[in-house]
Amino acid sequence: MSDPGFTVHRLNSMKIANFFLLVNDRELTLIDTGNKDKIENLRSKFDHTGHSLDQLKRIIATHCHPDHIGSMAALKQVTGAQVLAHEAEAPFITHEARLPRARGPAWLLHSLTEPVFRAERCRVDKTLKHGDSIEGTGLTAIHTPGHSPGSTCLYHRGARALFTGDAFINMFGKVRGPIPAFCWEIQQARRSLARLLELDVETIYFAHGETIREGGNERIRSLAEAFNAV
Ligand SMILES: [Zn+2]
Ligand SMILES: [Zn+2]
Repeated sequence: MSDPGFTVHRLNSMKIANFFLLVNDRELTLIDTGNKDKIENLRSKFDHTGHSLDQLKRIIATHCHPDHIGSMAALKQVTGAQVLAHEAEAPFITHEARLPRARGPAWLLHSLTEPVFRAERCRVDKTLKHGDSIEGTGLTAIHTPGHSPGSTCLYHRGARALFTGDAFINMFGKVRGPIPAFCWEIQQARRSLARLLELDVETIYFAHGETIREGGNERIRSLAEAFNAV
């Protein structure tokens, strides 16, 4: 990692979703929170990294799905952490709006699961727009709509690192686009990948799948090309 003030700890939730603890000049930031979990379990995950949950300063949500923000409301309550999310995603986190029904083949699955698996309501303290720098983190918000309306990747220029949320995944043996059955608008999700071509990426931290430490630019380029996004 070329930025010595910045370290990343990958945490895992139920072997399904990764979420990330960032330490930036001793300030603690979480990208997503994983599924709904007991605070004691989250506390022990933090302890394993050598950091205290009580020091958590902010939580950035990549999007509103329950495998990503399932513990956000509880964590906010316990730690007082600030919650940030893209302005197009915030209403689904605060429950001011329902996630719109998926367009295309995912609509049936969506309409069956969304009411059951909606994450607990959580206040959003600060909304983000594409290109916003997030104070105290070195991160920039990259709006990649499609998986959900406000899906956002997070980019750290100094570390040449990208946190994908569910914009794309590393599962079933390869880097691939988001799974259509879980997308609000799959065509838009695929087109959004072109936005990542503007970044200089070495390391890719996936919410679903193993981290890729080298050659991020090439992975992103070949994925975007596969969807004719370039
Ligand atoms: Zn998702
Ligand atoms: Zn997910």
